Amino acid sequence: IVQYKDIHKSFGDTHVLKGINLDIRPSEKIAIIGPSGSGKTTIIRLLMTLEEPTDGDIIVDGTNLWKMEAGGDGKMKKANEKHLSKVRNEIGMVFQHFNLFPHKTILDNCVTPLVQVRKMSKKDAVELSRQMLDRVGLNDKYEAYPSHLSGGQKQRVAMARALVMKPKIMLFDEVTSALDPELVGEVLEVIRDLADNEDMAMVLVTHEMDFALEVADRVLFLDGGVIAESGTADEVINTSDNPRLQDFLRRFR
Ligand code: ATP
Repeated sequence: IVQYKDIHKSFGDTHVLKGINLDIRPSEKIAIIGPSGSGKTTIIRLLMTLEEPTDGDIIVDGTNLWKMEAGGDGKMKKANEKHLSKVRNEIGMVFQHFNLFPHKTILDNCVTPLVQVRKMSKKDAVELSRQMLDRVGLNDKYEAYPSHLSGGQKQRVAMARALVMKPKIMLFDEVTSALDPELVGEVLEVIRDLADNEDMAMVLVTHEMDFALEVADRVLFLDGGVIAESGTADEVINTSDNPRLQDFLRRFR
């Protein structure tokens, strides 16, 4: 459903991604691990169109993200905002720092994008939002404001808000890193439930190795701007003899 083709990304003189090639199959669950600064977040921000690649192509569901055909002559030009937002609609993202609307109730946090972006009726949007909030265990919090919730609850709202849009791909960027340790479990539990029961592809940037082992069909070890290892969770986390990976795992397990 997603293809990265020789993706490079530089910020000024910093060459962060140096040729990423990656195919994400529909409903595949992928975990990305790697040292701090290796570019994990950048890989998923590129897919969410929050960053533009310096070179290479990203194809989502057959559509090139940053290039579009112009004028029927087969030539590609830079994509416009309309083209990008169409692709973006298929992708949901949950960030480390929740990014909820602080002045809206948690129900409205979910309803607003459905009404404004999806043009859904208010009634249907409320019904769907309630379903998703129930799904993440927040059936008693519809009218609460984000500031009255724990970090774990906020993160579950963020997931519900992404889920109501019925994305084909969900991106999770270190969603437990900002949480107090005792709240990590409840958030991982929701992701585990999604991984087990939902069809969508999921890409998780995570430092939770045991969790990656449990839910990921495939683990990628990003190092030095390239995918240095790729395989099943067991192959990468338990049996790889890559010394850089061994060193990394020693610090995180
Ligand atoms: P971490 O585990 O610490 O979150 P990461 O692997 O997710 O790290 P990225 O956040 O993708 O790494 O960042 C990779 C590199 O790119 C870092 O050196 C970072 O400083 C740099 N970088 C990322 N975004 C920008 C930006 N907008 N402007 C300049 N440099 C950036």
